[in-house]
Amino acid sequence: MKLLKYCPHCDRYTFEDKCPACGRPTVIAHPPKYSPKDKYGEYRRKAKLRERGLN
Ligand SMILES: [Zn+2]
Repeated sequence: MKLLKYCPHCDRYTFEDKCPACGRPTVIAHPPKYSPKDKYGEYRRKAKLRERGLN
């Protein structure tokens, strides 16, 4: 299974080592599902931390 990569230049996710849009090298996305456009992402991450008792 390929790692999800992220292009900070285009602010987009891809599985390629190079961004299909701009051709620049991508970086490994951490966390994989994070998106600044996902307004519920932060809530979900906090809920996950509470599940693990880390909050
Ligand atoms: Zn790009």
